[in-house]
Amino acid sequence: MSATIIDGKAFAAKVRGQVAEHVARLKGDHGITPGLAVVLVGEDPASQVYVRSKGKMTVEVGMNSYEHKLSADTSEDDLLSLINQLNNDPGVHGILVQLPLPKHLNEDLVINSIDPAKDVDGFHISNVGLLGTGQKAMVPCTPLGCLMMLRDHHGSLSGMNAVVIGRSNIVGKPMAQLLLGDSCTVTIAHSRTKDLPAVVRGADIVVAAVGRPQMVPGDWIKPGATVIDVGINRIDAPEKGEGKTRLVGDVDFDSAVQVAGAITPVPGGVGPMTIACLLANTVTACCRANGLAEPE
Ligand code: NDP
Repeated sequence: MSATIIDGKAFAAKVRGQVAEHVARLKGDHGITPGLAVVLVGEDPASQVYVRSKGKMTVEVGMNSYEHKLSADTSEDDLLSLINQLNNDPGVHGILVQLPLPKHLNEDLVINSIDPAKDVDGFHISNVGLLGTGQKAMVPCTPLGCLMMLRDHHGSLSGMNAVVIGRSNIVGKPMAQLLLGDSCTVTIAHSRTKDLPAVVRGADIVVAAVGRPQMVPGDWIKPGATVIDVGINRIDAPEKGEGKTRLVGDVDFDSAVQVAGAITPVPGGVGPMTIACLLANTVTACCRANGLAEPE
């Protein structure tokens, strides 16, 4: 039997539609247009693609998009002074600094200089602390998108065994916090985990956020489990022609789809949800800044 494919692309389009409706209400009823500022330092090609598509979708849902492209040799002082300016700009409700930053810039210092109320990526230590203590936080977009898909598929996640593979600050750890918040029994696995296949086999929910192409085979998956594949890996695809590549996840989709109850594809799963959640977080930040009701 083949798993249900969780269509992140369609779900993300629905979320963006809801965001657009909320933006229209903010404009019509209150004369407020939410604004998202994205700061890109340097010319990393993948980051340029992300920033371009974030900007395009921000405008599509009716929000203002402000792009700040800085050269790779920008000094820390100049970057901090731009962030300070954006923190104080009432037209900017969300600030995102595209990671990774060039090596000479201190990522923690830069992220923690963003006003936590405008930190739509949810990486500021205040938001990390709020999330960890179950308080109202800005929640990192990728794990939030994963949680939304899981809730949509299962309804309640209470009591389920969840394994998150990966313990990064941007995906693994906040994902684990969110699953714990929804009353899952959570295991966080990483490169030192012993007998990872056995750990994964005990999971009703597997979230793979490693960055190793097709690392999780179908025979690690408990029959009927839900698999959320966060990984985005580019591999050679000689079958498409010489020098061609394709994107794959951290899960071996072809074998996992035979065993899982539900699975997200790559591409078309977690990726589109990440940007949709960024837009939703910006609307949330705008509502909070203006003392208005937040989207649910
Ligand atoms: P990191 O490199 O920061 O973290 C990877 C994690 O995987 C680490 O905790 C590491 O463990 C763990 N790991 C590495 N090797 C193994 C192994 N053999 N067994 C078990 N665990 C292992 O990556 P990110 O969290 O930033 O990203 C993970 C993946 O998700 C990447 O493919 C990335 O491209 C993708 N991604 C996708 C997004 C989307 O929108 N869809 C957004 C963000 C990321 P340790 O800590 O011990 O080193």
